[in-house]
Amino acid sequence: MSHNGGTTSQQLAAIPDTKPDASVRAYAPETQAIHADDHLNTNPDVAPALHVSTTFRYTEDPEKLRPVGDDSESLDESHIYSRVTAPNTTRLESILSTLLKGRAVTYSSGLSALHAALVFLNPKKISIGDGYHGCHGVVDLQQRLTGMKKLPLDCAAEELGPGDVIHLETPVNPTGLAFNIQKFAEKAHSRGAYLVVDATFGPPGLQDPFAHGADIIMHSGTKYIGGHSDMLCGVLATQREDWWKVLLDDRTYLGSVLGSFEGWLGIRSVRTLELRVRRQSDNASRLVAWLDAMVSGRPDQTPGNDAASSSANAALVRKIVARVAHASLQHDDKAWLDKQMPNGYGPVFSMWATSEAFARALPSRLKLFHHATSLGGVESLIEWRRMSDKGVVPTLLRVSVGVESWEDIRDDLLQGFKALAGEATS
Ligand SMILES: *Cc1c(COP(=O)(O)O)cnc(C)c1O
Repeated sequence: MSHNGGTTSQQLAAIPDTKPDASVRAYAPETQAIHADDHLNTNPDVAPALHVSTTFRYTEDPEKLRPVGDDSESLDESHIYSRVTAPNTTRLESILSTLLKGRAVTYSSGLSALHAALVFLNPKKISIGDGYHGCHGVVDLQQRLTGMKKLPLDCAAEELGPGDVIHLETPVNPTGLAFNIQKFAEKAHSRGAYLVVDATFGPPGLQDPFAHGADIIMHSGTKYIGGHSDMLCGVLATQREDWWKVLLDDRTYLGSVLGSFEGWLGIRSVRTLELRVRRQSDNASRLVAWLDAMVSGRPDQTPGNDAASSSANAALVRKIVARVAHASLQHDDKAWLDKQMPNGYGPVFSMWATSEAFARALPSRLKLFHHATSLGGVESLIEWRRMSDKGVVPTLLRVSVGVESWEDIRDDLLQGFKALAGEATS
């Protein structure tokens, strides 16, 4: 069969190996995010093209045809069918593999990534804390199918056996508090069990769970990896090549692949991951320091907060906010926490209002925060958390800090508190 340009079609269906040149590993993450997929460039485009094809032409050289079942090469050299691999998602996986320091596999959502991890590991027991409510939905499904037993996160190590799983979310939803990854890795490994870390709240740039003993890293790529509130995505990463191959194979039959458009958006997004996440995390820490100083009466050391920290403002904040939680406030955990999160403590924090009425009303009094669930986008979000999680107290507000000027967000919160306090007294 003849078609336009013979070899060109082969070049476009680029080699689906996600492994970048070894030299790329020497670069800093910001550089890797721009160049980890250079080995997949086969045409002059600077911005990668969006490939929508579900099927790809086989080689025109009959000698090179590898019939199904012929494993003389572990991976075919070109894409075949998009439920297996496709150019945009492979390119995204190549960048994520470098940033996560393992082999990354993408999925249609964070929950489908967790599902794939449980199908693969098939533990008899899973030790899991509160965390993101949706993960418990997946665990419950697996329980229904396999009888897997659910244990609390603080279960005794002796309750775990070989092949079991500790599922650790850190920082954890909704509070943004962090757990010691190494401690849980040692606990799991002492029993021949595995540690899966849901690192959605602490993406590359903030923490590297493999450095502290994680066996699998899971992400809802919908959040920071996507970063623009416009793509659903899940990611698993492993440092074991044998596990990676099985995960890829399993995904072909689970069918929970990331769409090509999402793969394309994801590439656009990860280019700026480091910039966004560091800025958002820094913004969050400044806001939390200010709020905590106001609520607790401790002095705020944050430069630039002097005017906003007047005693009148402190009284105002205290009228609306009872308590703030964020990993930056875990003063007693600094010894391990500063090793685990050396570049910042994550962009999500929680605050408890002094009444349910205030928690319910605050989001609608703010101008720079959308009242919406989710997190990780460049825009600041606030959520009265009872809207999506029935397991939390009705005074809880979850905040996902965006890339706006933190002084502007702080002042917006302040005017929101003022509006609520005024309504309460009038
Ligand atoms: C959002 C989220 C998930 C689920 O991810 P989806 O992409 O929505 O499926 C899992 N874990 C955490 C911590 C999350 O924030």
